[in-house]
Amino acid sequence: MAGTKKVVTKFATQGGAIVSVVEARENGWFEWECSGCSESGLPRVRRFTNDDAQSHADVCRALPLD
Ligand SMILES: [Zn+2]
Repeated sequence: MAGTKKVVTKFATQGGAIVSVVEARENGWFEWECSGCSESGLPRVRRFTNDDAQSHADVCRALPLD
């Protein structure tokens, strides 16, 4: 459910999209989702999710469609 997730960090990508790090409240894990290419990451602890999100933001050139 969308209501159980909270965005905790956002990274701007090379292409001008946003990678959001979200907390899944029900289990305490964090995931990232890219608004440009719709890729997302597997649930991890926050520090690793931030690293993954930032790595993706550094290389992603996809533009958001809306
Ligand atoms: Zn992306």
